[in-house]
Amino acid sequence: MIKQNLHTHSLYCDGKNTIEDMTLEAIQKGFTILGFSGHGNCREIDDYSMTDDNTKKYIQDVLEVKEKYKDQIHIFLGIEEDILGQSFEKNNLYDYIIGSVHFVKAGEEYLAVDQSQEVTHKIVDYYGDFLSYAQSYYEEVKKIAYRSDVDIVGHIDLLTKFNENEEFIDFDDQEYLKLAYECIDMLIGQKKIFEVNTGAIARGQRKTPYPHHILLKYIHDHGGKICLNSDCHQKEMLDCYYKESLELIQDCGFTSMMVLTDQGFIEKDIQEFL
Ligand SMILES: [Zn+2]
Ligand SMILES: [Zn+2]
Repeated sequence: MIKQNLHTHSLYCDGKNTIEDMTLEAIQKGFTILGFSGHGNCREIDDYSMTDDNTKKYIQDVLEVKEKYKDQIHIFLGIEEDILGQSFEKNNLYDYIIGSVHFVKAGEEYLAVDQSQEVTHKIVDYYGDFLSYAQSYYEEVKKIAYRSDVDIVGHIDLLTKFNENEEFIDFDDQEYLKLAYECIDMLIGQKKIFEVNTGAIARGQRKTPYPHHILLKYIHDHGGKICLNSDCHQKEMLDCYYKESLELIQDCGFTSMMVLTDQGFIEKDIQEFL
């Protein structure tokens, strides 16, 4: 059986635990595969991302636990690159790369799309309305399609983090969906894997994962592939909403998910997941 999480942070960026503590917790929670994905260097904009120095230590730590616990869990070395930060190449070092958009440009400054309700209002004010903001945001996400070494698209509709009660947009707004669908089409075209990401649930900001189930259904209906990740920043949350997400994924029609192996990503029947 498989239990996988490929989106994991640590003290080297904005996570709360060491690489080893996260690994031990994953073993305890019955994970068979754990991938680390520290925030790649984007220091000019993002203070939480890893400096080059921290990146070296991060890599060393992950490779150490990989060896130390190899009989108990399969550890992979990944990185989460921001589209505005350093562009990484696997180069036989990284096992996989997550590509994400965390910021949009508002005038001279970059604002974090996942920071707060207040900042989301600020961004919407800058763009004039939510749809214009969404257009700009999804244009950025589309760029991930052309990052050849990126395997997984991180939290594709992160811009809706503070839209739980549809304060900014109705999730079924046709204009909004059109923007998201165009972006999804491009990413499917380049064979990117979409993650179902429960990170905002762990932080108490959402009740359901990214992407919204309408988008997830669209991804399924158009042949997109997925994996399930907790975007873990705190070890207790490694399996946050895991079982519920598996149900949601199946409700959207998926019968398989992507699994990382030493030979790269392979598709596995959903029944094989714990
Ligand atoms: Zn992220
Ligand atoms: Zn992350």
